Amino acid sequence: MNTLSISNLSKTYPNGVEALKGVSIEINNGLFGLLGPNGAGKSSLMRTIATLQKPDSGSVILNQINVEEHPQYIRKSLGYLPQEFGVYPTMTAEILLDHFAVLKGISDRKTRKERVDYLLDQTNLFQHRKKKLGGFSGGMKQRFGIAQALLANPSLIIVDEPTAGLDPTERNRFHNLLSELGQEAIVILSTHFVDDVKELCTNMAILNSGELLWKGSPQQAINEIEGRVFSRQITRNQIHDYKEEYSVIAEQLFQGKPLIYIYSESDPGQGFLPVEPDLNHVFFNKVHS
Ligand code: ADP
Repeated sequence: MNTLSISNLSKTYPNGVEALKGVSIEINNGLFGLLGPNGAGKSSLMRTIATLQKPDSGSVILNQINVEEHPQYIRKSLGYLPQEFGVYPTMTAEILLDHFAVLKGISDRKTRKERVDYLLDQTNLFQHRKKKLGGFSGGMKQRFGIAQALLANPSLIIVDEPTAGLDPTERNRFHNLLSELGQEAIVILSTHFVDDVKELCTNMAILNSGELLWKGSPQQAINEIEGRVFSRQITRNQIHDYKEEYSVIAEQLFQGKPLIYIYSESDPGQGFLPVEPDLNHVFFNKVHS
């Protein structure tokens, strides 16, 4: 079992933006969802864990080793899958993966070939290994990204905004792969897609404006707002008034008419009906309250 302990991390950029404000979380093996809107501080946190930038204060400890003091340890133990994997369009999957393996320090040719073949197989790319990466679909590129992230057998895998641009089949396949990885390693999924966290993660945290607003399991989060989410249909020109009066957490169209969802400690009456809360309601309630 691996353990990542993040304690009291703070970071203010030279322009004065406080990107992290005393963030503390402990994460074990499995899929952990780091959820937050754009600008919440997710990338700042991921980059700090990966030792790509230093915090102003606080610490990151992986398996009892302080990563700031031993950056080599984390770089060896970390698989990082960035949002956009800058692939080399004219190289084949097999050759590029072999090249990355050399960079990771796997110098023995036979060991390297075994590792590359194994990862191509695990990410369902073996039959495409001789194809140029420029011709890969979005899903294949993501899986190639995973294969390179796994080269060094990481105990911690960071995945940044993973499923943008994947079709449902590719997304499903990618999710299955991540779930498998979570059995052996800590996998942190940094995303603003609530549904990815709902489907995959056993634990999660919500980050907003550099602050950790909530941590726990998705189910716990939903249980906490059970009985406090209500909805009703309104007319388009009422939206503004309702926003003034209620804590509106979502709006959507239903049969062409606006439907609003509100958070309320007690039954608001006024034609509102209680609804089963989901993780989207939790997210918008935490982030907008
Ligand atoms: P997220 O990944 O959740 O979108 P970021 O960590 O990228 O959030 O950004 C958090 C805040 O810090 C934002 O307001 C962003 O504009 C700011 N920020 C990020 N990186 C830098 C930087 N290198 N210099 C100055 N401000 C930055």
